[in-house]
Amino acid sequence: KVVCVTGASGFIASWLVKLLLARGYSVVATVRSLGDPKKTEHLLALDGAKERLSLFEANLIEDGSFDSAVKGCVCVFHTASPVQFIVDDPQAQLIDPAVKGTLNVLNSASKVPSLRRVVLTSSMASVLFGAKVPVFGDVVDETWFSDPTVCQKRNSWYCVSKTMAEDAAVKFSQENDMDLVVINPGFVIGPILQPTLNNTSKRFMNFIKTGEDVFSDRVYILVDVRDVAIAHILAFEKPEANGRYCVVGNVSSEIMKIVEKLYPTIDHSRRYKDSKGVESLIYSVSRVKTEGLGVEFTPLEVGTCAGEESVGPRNGGSGAWV
Ligand code: NDP
Repeated sequence: KVVCVTGASGFIASWLVKLLLARGYSVVATVRSLGDPKKTEHLLALDGAKERLSLFEANLIEDGSFDSAVKGCVCVFHTASPVQFIVDDPQAQLIDPAVKGTLNVLNSASKVPSLRRVVLTSSMASVLFGAKVPVFGDVVDETWFSDPTVCQKRNSWYCVSKTMAEDAAVKFSQENDMDLVVINPGFVIGPILQPTLNNTSKRFMNFIKTGEDVFSDRVYILVDVRDVAIAHILAFEKPEANGRYCVVGNVSSEIMKIVEKLYPTIDHSRRYKDSKGVESLIYSVSRVKTEGLGVEFTPLEVGTCAGEESVGPRNGGSGAWV
């Protein structure tokens, strides 16, 4: 079975490619630039890559760029989207690649007779920031939808881009009778396969090292990258999968206690100062766990710890902290 992964060089997508190859799939991986070995070497080194991985160059903002990559695929995993939090030109740097890029990919996919399903990587950013301001004790689930105006007021153009992209994808799928399943991960942590740190891993690393609070909106929702990748795969493999899935492994200020235990020599006073009084929401993960996909979440300690054997070379990880 041939499947396509867009933005394959990325943090989440690299794990997705690795686990798809391990499951016996043939994978067509799209990257923005084939000329940069840093974007492809780690993919080419994966088990099974020699036999079953092919690389294509494709850019979200070029119409028809994905046409050749998706040909003959049974599933397109569309993960590519810019993950940037500081931008000069939100339209060009975030919104166009996210929204037009998603429509570009879906349009290419819609022309493929072998296609069974598209799995879209959205985000909890497209879930949490609606008109209703969440308060302590609220149960967040897949019925919550962010509103781009609210995201904009919070000054989060990334949130605008993800919310608009998911909306556009759902609309496209309805108009074109396309089977679409949406994955909405929380903040993703865990070992990296790619040689350079992606932006969210950088922020999380900085949080561990300096105590600078990455979770400025006080929403602590963490999920291991391997669980996110598995959720994508199960979203394709389970015929009954449908709609969207909040993929949130751990919700907590627990992270503070774990980081302190793992790295006792670091001064944690600032982190504690910043995190006191954190208000927690309750996240319903019944769709992604028991009721639906059957994802078993990796414990937070494993995703956070560099020394754990399970996040090191045994799983193909770099052994890095995040
Ligand atoms: P990465 O930055 O590692 O991956 C993003 C990928 O998108 C990269 O491969 C990047 O290519 C590609 N991309 C960006 N712009 C373009 C473009 N114009 N044309 C082609 N490819 C492009 O981030 P993550 O792995 O963290 O994110 C992957 C997906 O998961 C995104 O959709 C993100 O919104 C979503 N997500 C991430 C979360 C997280 O905590 N990390 C949480 C929830 C959702 P290049 O390497 O060339 O820049």
